[in-house]
Amino acid sequence: MKGPIKFASPLLDEATVEAAADVLRSGHITSGVWVERFEAALSEFCGARPVRVVTSATAAMEIALQLCGIGRGDEVITCAQSFFAVPNMIVKQGATPVFVDCDPLTRNIDLAAVAARIGPRTRAIMPTHWPGSLVDLDALYALARDRKLRVIEDAALVMGSTFNGRPIGAIGDLVSFSFHPNKNMTSIEGGALVVNDADEAKRVEVLRFHGIERLADGTRDVGFPGGKFNLPDVNARIGLAQLDVLDSENARRAEIAASYRAGLSSVGGITLMPQSPDRASSFHLFPVLVDGREAFLARMKEAGIGIGVHYRRNDEYPMYRKSHLPNAEWFSERVVSLPMHLCLTDDDVAYVTSTIASGW
Ligand SMILES: *Cc1c(COP(=O)(O)O)cnc(C)c1O
Repeated sequence: MKGPIKFASPLLDEATVEAAADVLRSGHITSGVWVERFEAALSEFCGARPVRVVTSATAAMEIALQLCGIGRGDEVITCAQSFFAVPNMIVKQGATPVFVDCDPLTRNIDLAAVAARIGPRTRAIMPTHWPGSLVDLDALYALARDRKLRVIEDAALVMGSTFNGRPIGAIGDLVSFSFHPNKNMTSIEGGALVVNDADEAKRVEVLRFHGIERLADGTRDVGFPGGKFNLPDVNARIGLAQLDVLDSENARRAEIAASYRAGLSSVGGITLMPQSPDRASSFHLFPVLVDGREAFLARMKEAGIGIGVHYRRNDEYPMYRKSHLPNAEWFSERVVSLPMHLCLTDDDVAYVTSTIASGW
């Protein structure tokens, strides 16, 4: 037995550690100049759209909902196949998540189902992008424009993916990213929200820091109870260093994904996710569908291979009413994520592939 092979393992190079240490020694460690530099770099990455960083993608989504003025009596349409932070933040605003099903092949939110559920209380659509199969942004925004709805894209899993040649975040309405250690790039904890203009960016600054507005005379005012979601400079410095290596690290992730695809394409009981050639993926995760998941998970555990499940459908948690969404259910029962990180060697990938090929 070769294991253990971790499911995820963040890689911070020595230069990043040194850079973070410099900030720690600098005497200014919470939000300051490094936050501004990180935001400027992220903005450049996202086609010059304004970006503000916060402490997590969950915080970014909460702020995005507040920015849209979504609250009691409002409905937000989202996909049952997603991470529970999405409906949780909708509920936290006092609004109601309306779950729709996903596409049976790509697992993306079913836009025809979204259109069918739009009603007088609907204010926004919150779709989640999956590594390897992004939401069709042309169709999504055609629908949103037509029905005058806001969009909050959950792009936590797809930093560095491109849609028709443009990075996710470079077009659209509000887009949130996660810098949790398991994602494509990390600031330890952290997240970002891409917004439309300077006014929205200013509003995010108020929402993420107590509701404080700085007045022209140098004093400050608090108009409402804001949150406390500002990212410290130490984290921003780490994030900035990670952004520098995002492309090269995503290229390595793509190599690992290609090895998995080649090694698993003819293995019985494994279904690979479709990979549309015009949608370049950053492979934060490598999800596959397995028949007999319980036995598969037990076999992988025995072989020392870390496997994730992303995600069980949200409407199966007690706080969300169970709905009949057969495609979400189908994915929820079969999906697993194979090990995918920068510390994996080619030998590790071969071991995972051959272990799966030997059956469960
Ligand atoms: C990780 C994740 C989030 C939340 O990210 P945090 O930064 O941990 O808040 C949201 N959506 C999806 C799909 C995720 O995988």
